[in-house]
Amino acid sequence: MDKQQVIEQLRAEIEATRARIDAAPEAAESLDRRGDDTAEFTAAEEVRYLEELRDDLEITEATLDVREIEAAADVEARESAGDGLAVVVGHTRSSPGAQGKAPPLPRNPDTARYEYTWNSKLAEMIKERADASGIRCSVFFRDSGGITGAYARVRQWRPEATVELHFNAFNERARGTETLFALPRSRAWAQALQDEFVALYERRGSLDRGLKDRSGGGRGHLSLTQIAPSALIEPFFGDEASDAELGERTKERLAESIIVAFGKIRAMPLG
Ligand SMILES: [Zn+2]
Repeated sequence: MDKQQVIEQLRAEIEATRARIDAAPEAAESLDRRGDDTAEFTAAEEVRYLEELRDDLEITEATLDVREIEAAADVEARESAGDGLAVVVGHTRSSPGAQGKAPPLPRNPDTARYEYTWNSKLAEMIKERADASGIRCSVFFRDSGGITGAYARVRQWRPEATVELHFNAFNERARGTETLFALPRSRAWAQALQDEFVALYERRGSLDRGLKDRSGGGRGHLSLTQIAPSALIEPFFGDEASDAELGERTKERLAESIIVAFGKIRAMPLG
């Protein structure tokens, strides 16, 4: 795949997202009324995804090194089995994702309340634990090469499983835990992560928002279709006070729970 094809794929993803937003104008308008039903949440997600993709297009155009994609294809052709856990930090320094509530999320530095910064630190915690447990682990960022570039480096690295770190945000009232996946081979990994988070946060009833299958498109689709098994985590809502407090207070245990989930799917045949 050359750079122009990557750019065209990205433009197509942007167009598809825009078309979904245009098809549901009333849902987008209702965002202003700050409700929290499913249609409104979905509309808000699509708007956030569109912003994320526009940032990704800029970064990809400016920084994608197509040799990374070629190198990934070479390694994939040569080696079948993967090993270890790849951690991708969601969003970028230039467009750091949702803003969480601070406090409970840190006020300083100024960016610490945003997904990108909060999850950069979480990624470090995951790597420290992985290293201590003898698990091969590496952290990847989307600042160079965008989503496609980051995942080309992930594919070249040959992980056994990949996780992309995010937290959710909506209307400062919605709470809960969800995990996104898109490829059939990713379902068990997404479920293992979701199960750990639900146990960690003691989610009951509708606060366990379950798995979201993004095979048909929607937020996370581009990341989740790059490699399998892979999952995109939304452990809590950073803009809701009690969820943000929960996420901040148990951050070390969140890192640990990702390592535990990895240990569980490792023991499982993924088909
Ligand atoms: Zn995000």
